[in-house]
Amino acid sequence: MSQFPGVQFLTSAAAPAQFPPDQGWEMAVAGRSNSGKSSAINALLGRNGLARTSRTPGRTQLYNYFEVAPGRRLVDLPGYGHASVPGAIRATWGPMADALRQRESFAAVMVVVDCRRGVGELDLALIAWAARPPQRTHVLLSKSDKLPRGQALTALREAEAALEGIGSCQLFSAHKGVGLDDARAVLRRWLAEPTKK
Ligand code: GDP
Repeated sequence: MSQFPGVQFLTSAAAPAQFPPDQGWEMAVAGRSNSGKSSAINALLGRNGLARTSRTPGRTQLYNYFEVAPGRRLVDLPGYGHASVPGAIRATWGPMADALRQRESFAAVMVVVDCRRGVGELDLALIAWAARPPQRTHVLLSKSDKLPRGQALTALREAEAALEGIGSCQLFSAHKGVGLDDARAVLRRWLAEPTKK
């Protein structure tokens, strides 16, 4: 039984005009290229293959929208931090991102950070850009199965310190299901919030 039975792909937007109508509620999922973002979205929503990984990291600059529940959307943002993203495509990141942030329905942001890398400058820049309240900013420290328990806990403490007053975080592994219940609980809490309009 799927955790979010109504989940469905909505649309891919290459320009703000292609965003769904600005009604209801939406959350963004962001992360560096190769952070495990697609795997995290698929695990979170319980649907393999829903969010797809681009074979060329960093090339996909589409904003992929999913409906998680009626009027509640998840938007999968292009992975950031990849050196080979062509300049022209990178230039579209600004206007697209600004348009997204200005939407009434944009309520929350989840950021996927490889736990071995830790919360970095680009992640903090993304979080600052999103400028959502701390209770609606959550970081998944992904691929936690790749670290021994002690190192994973150290990574968690370091991330908590980096995110103090900014947002919450947790260990997560899409492959092993670590932290899946906690991450889904955050999503459910967000989904239960009233919409602005
Ligand atoms: P994206 O580019 O951020 O969307 O990342 P993907 O979800 O495509 O994952 C990038 C790579 O990390 C792939 O090789 C995945 O198999 C791997 N990966 C993702 N999540 C996990 C995880 O929880 N554990 C491990 N060990 N590898 C993972």
